[in-house]
Amino acid sequence: MYECHSLKRFLRLILLDILVFSLCGAFFLIGKNLFALSVEKSDDEPVFLPVIMYHSVFGNSPEEYIATPMQFERDLAWLSENGYSSVSARQLVDYTNNKDTLPEKCVMITFDDGCYNNLSEVLPLLEKYDMRAVVSVVGEYTDVTAVNDPHMPAYSYLTWDDINVLIESERVEIGNHTYNMHSFRGDRKGCSKNISETEEDYRNILFSDLSRLQSEIKEHTDILPVVFAYPFGFVSDESVPVLRELGFAVTLNCTERPNYITHNPECLYGLNRYNRSGLYSTEEFMRKIFGE
Ligand SMILES: [Zn+2]
Repeated sequence: MYECHSLKRFLRLILLDILVFSLCGAFFLIGKNLFALSVEKSDDEPVFLPVIMYHSVFGNSPEEYIATPMQFERDLAWLSENGYSSVSARQLVDYTNNKDTLPEKCVMITFDDGCYNNLSEVLPLLEKYDMRAVVSVVGEYTDVTAVNDPHMPAYSYLTWDDINVLIESERVEIGNHTYNMHSFRGDRKGCSKNISETEEDYRNILFSDLSRLQSEIKEHTDILPVVFAYPFGFVSDESVPVLRELGFAVTLNCTERPNYITHNPECLYGLNRYNRSGLYSTEEFMRKIFGE
């Protein structure tokens, strides 16, 4: 009788152990799945990406589109001290296609027009602060203007040799800023569509201009840009199919707002940018973007 009672008690204890063990296992699996779900969710959160637009960097007299090398260095120091890493356009493309990650705090640094000082003044500072940038060139400035008056930091443009030095540094990615539409001609502002022209005429003009510069960049550097910067930020909806057809995956405008990058490649068309006017101090400019 005593033995029988002990046996029943023993069996009850084993059953209890099995129950407790099973419940622990179940809670562990549920917890693990919940944790996995929360990680996945946070990975899908849009990434805050401010894009800064510079032009010329030289001298001691800052203007709306000229920052001094000292201002540029202070900007890089501020970004670095506050934990920001610069990203390239190709990195953004890879991120949206789930092929790469982005730093927790990222910023994109861009230069328009292809000024020679982007090599003489900017590149050494990018190297010093371990940063990257996108330099979007105007074909005619490089083909014609740069050749006639090369290598004056105040006003020269990048030659093809200069552009290759930038590419070889692996700190600069080259973008397209039109071959010959960086102007105000008649009703046309930059590469936007004239009200008077047909969609087909506009398409042909834009395609011809942009493909000319794409071909020249490919010929001189063996690289085909994926980023396009709209001259003066004038955007026409009709330009988008042409840009897609030519393989551009990132386009840059001049609306001063931040961007939120997702895993949808469409979010890279029309990235907003903040013009880095030389008329602000680094602190004033960064407060405008980051509010810090
Ligand atoms: Zn420009």
